[in-house]
Amino acid sequence: VEYKIRILKCGTTAAPGPEVYYLSDFEKWYPLNCYLYLITGGKKSIVVDTGCRDVNEFNAIIVPSYGPQGEKAKFVVKPEEEPRALLLKAGVNPNDVDILILTHLHYDHVSNVALFPNADVYISRRGWTSVMAPRHRQLAPAILFPRDVYAYLFDKKWDRVHLVEDEKILPDIKVFWIGGHTQCSQAVAVNTKKGTVIITGDTVFTYKNIEENIPVGLSYSLLDCLDAMQRIREEAAIVLPGHDPETLRRFPSAKIP
Ligand SMILES: [Zn+2]
Repeated sequence: VEYKIRILKCGTTAAPGPEVYYLSDFEKWYPLNCYLYLITGGKKSIVVDTGCRDVNEFNAIIVPSYGPQGEKAKFVVKPEEEPRALLLKAGVNPNDVDILILTHLHYDHVSNVALFPNADVYISRRGWTSVMAPRHRQLAPAILFPRDVYAYLFDKKWDRVHLVEDEKILPDIKVFWIGGHTQCSQAVAVNTKKGTVIITGDTVFTYKNIEENIPVGLSYSLLDCLDAMQRIREEAAIVLPGHDPETLRRFPSAKIP
């Protein structure tokens, strides 16, 4: 199957230089977008990631942690950027989504899993383990790793949760563990008319990360980030990074192909 991908911008934020580019650009802040993706063209409708929720509550905690310039780190989600509104506008009711793939388990990617009551959910097995039983407890802070969402997945949703490892979800869609940004990070490779598109999650924040081989600063493992970027460069015809506003400049129609 040659799938089509819609790139749906579901919010904005910004991050200081060293968070985006490891130990670089200490004076700079970079504007970032949040995304989810709708994949169509096969028999099933597929969504990758789910965006943010309750941004005011999230900002109340996150903004002060960034110090004097913290206001810049605020997440903003306009009404038309709410995941439900975005999907309805793209012609898909969230109730009709068959498959939900999570690139990782961070707040800005998993918060709205309950919006997809009829979807099977695909999570990295290694990733789920890393969050439920972290080697170091401080690596799973509650603000970034929303417990109630995991409780929902483990309780009401459990029969539909698939813990996966380097495998095909459908004949032309595969996931593979990449780690790096978090230990729960997996990439999604999708066959399209333009070749293999890889949705990287946040192990690659921006095109500059992967094109200049600079790992993200917000990383649990620089080595895994570099390994991941090497593999993604080898396998991808098109890369869709986690948070780059540049994505919508390279794909102004927000569609692939
Ligand atoms: Zn993110």
